[in-house]
Amino acid sequence: MLAAAITSTHCPYCALQCGMNLRPSKDGGVDVVERPDFPVNRGALCGKGRTAPAVLSSSVRLTGPLIRNHATGGLEPATWEEALRAVADGLRRVRDAHGPDGVGVFGGGGLTNEKAYTLGKFARLVLGTSQIDYNGRFCMSSAAAAHTRAFGLDRGLPFPLEDIPRTGCVILVGSNLAETMPPALRYLTELRENGGRLIVVDPRRTRTAEQADLHLAPRPGTDLALALGLLHLVVAEGRVDEEFVAERTTGWADARAAAMSHWPTLVERVTGVPVPQLREAMGMFCDAESGMVLTARGPEQQSKGTDTVGAWINLCLATGRAGRPLSGYGCLTGQGNGQGGREHGQKADQLPGYRKLDDPEARAHVASVWGVGPDTLPGPGRSAYELLDALGRDVKALLLMGSNPVVSAPRAAHVEERLRSLDFLAVADVVLSETAAIADVVLPVTQWAEETGTTTNLEGRVLLRRRAITPPTGVRTDLEVLHGLAGLLGWEKGFPTDPEEVFEELRRASAGGPADYAGISYRRVAEEDGVFWPCPDAEHPGTPRLFLDRFATPDGRARFVPVTHRASAEETDAEYPVVLTTGRVVAQYQSGAQTRRVAELNAAAPGPFVELHPRLAERVGVADGEPVAVVSRRGRAVAPARVTTSIRPDTVFMPFHWPGEGRANTLTNPALDPTSKMPEFKVCAVRLERPGG
Ligand code: SF4
Repeated sequence: MLAAAITSTHCPYCALQCGMNLRPSKDGGVDVVERPDFPVNRGALCGKGRTAPAVLSSSVRLTGPLIRNHATGGLEPATWEEALRAVADGLRRVRDAHGPDGVGVFGGGGLTNEKAYTLGKFARLVLGTSQIDYNGRFCMSSAAAAHTRAFGLDRGLPFPLEDIPRTGCVILVGSNLAETMPPALRYLTELRENGGRLIVVDPRRTRTAEQADLHLAPRPGTDLALALGLLHLVVAEGRVDEEFVAERTTGWADARAAAMSHWPTLVERVTGVPVPQLREAMGMFCDAESGMVLTARGPEQQSKGTDTVGAWINLCLATGRAGRPLSGYGCLTGQGNGQGGREHGQKADQLPGYRKLDDPEARAHVASVWGVGPDTLPGPGRSAYELLDALGRDVKALLLMGSNPVVSAPRAAHVEERLRSLDFLAVADVVLSETAAIADVVLPVTQWAEETGTTTNLEGRVLLRRRAITPPTGVRTDLEVLHGLAGLLGWEKGFPTDPEEVFEELRRASAGGPADYAGISYRRVAEEDGVFWPCPDAEHPGTPRLFLDRFATPDGRARFVPVTHRASAEETDAEYPVVLTTGRVVAQYQSGAQTRRVAELNAAAPGPFVELHPRLAERVGVADGEPVAVVSRRGRAVAPARVTTSIRPDTVFMPFHWPGEGRANTLTNPALDPTSKMPEFKVCAVRLERPGG
């Protein structure tokens, strides 16, 4: 059953994609052992990575397909032939009745590059639908949009992580690395050991913020104003890098004018960050020889997320901290394959190679690789939340892989109701997630250590996850599922089940595109322990550092975009006087579908909580550990209070990993950023109550 030797591979969870070795264990599974030679994490792992094998052998693992018996209402065991036939019939029935766009496909940022590529191809060729998007839209799409707008290309980090300790100053905005990717914290520790400065922007004094030289704690939703205030001071105090701005950028005059209307006193009123702290931050950043701004979900998951990231990029450009060694703007992507997942065609507006679906040349290239005419390909579809919101109305059937929107989508009760209103729902997953539990057909699929495939980490480094263990009888790979469905739906060719064969096709499809994988092969990835894209041919060394000579815009210059502060979609008022912000805890991952099945992780983080300041707790009349109800315009969630001075008195925090009564996303606001279509997970107005009181 087991491979005899140690297998080098990568963690199934977050975008750091820590290297790990898997060793056969006495009980027939695998144990995780350190892999110190992989440069990103040098052997370090968080608890999620260390315990990842527990999900492989979990007693609640799905090991056979399930079909709903509509007479009894229950899910019942079925053969693979019955289950695939039921899915194909369900999708075909809806397509025949409502047209191709009556069928939707929803993917995930944890799917390998090969799966993301095949899922996009399946949707557009076999189903002929434009209605495909994925949960990565909820992750880093605002940063991706801002990156592309300013630099002409989006790669989360345009430099390797190893550059961080050697820069002069890092502004880390809305990222709690200590909880979300603990092994990456060492890059910040080493930065400070080397004499570099760290500024953390977060409404909570997180374990990451505690490491900082300076912690700025703005009101949630005001990061845009904060960045503009810093840029105002940069101009007012003569710290603009005029030479860089003149030689390597365009649009400065308008961006400058926009920033100059954001006086520091105004910014203090909006953000709550005192002017002296603004001055200190600006001085720290400008005094350093080099600098970086790194953002994560805090500024990105807002209805103005693209402009918020754009304001931080403007700060980098005005100070000459972009397109130079040891300087730049970067996004700390969250999901395991959040980077690769957005590059290869499961996004509503993208084709493989990060090509745009509405670009005639891109369509022609990909269509030729797929052996069809460009007119065969549908146009762009709805974004993730728009797609979920359309379920049961315009979109009557959904095939869902690698996502659990019942827990992870904004306004989750509404999304759950939409999913339940579908004519047909098929879910492929490893466990009976909350979304799988309401499906008509559930397809049990293999997990990370049971299959081979590539991911692309937050640095743009393409990595190889290797099969280390034989999957249980009764499960199939996602590629086998799509192959089977394609055949049943009349598409006999073009859906291989061998991941390397898929990757070879992906190379051709991506060739010449922004995310060019043409020179990357399984052999190279294995030998070199990762290759950075773009890598246009087999002799090319890969590109760890982007933009050093020119930006990826037509004229080679980075583009300033004038942005101004605006309020969040939902402001506090007398009825809802407190701001809710959401996030993660170290022992759980995303919707918790996997990590809630691991005893050690559950012991560390058994359930949701509401973090609030003692002054707010006193006003509400709740003590630490007592249940508190959080009510927004969309619903109500109840969880124990966690009273702490580490959060602003006007803000509460809830982690979003759990379903049921404590589901944080019952409360969140699906107001969308107009450019990226990112929902506003990070800001909504709530009131607190004593349950029953
Ligand atoms: Fe896995 Fe991320 Fe933890 Fe590394 S930091 S072990 S990739 S979950």
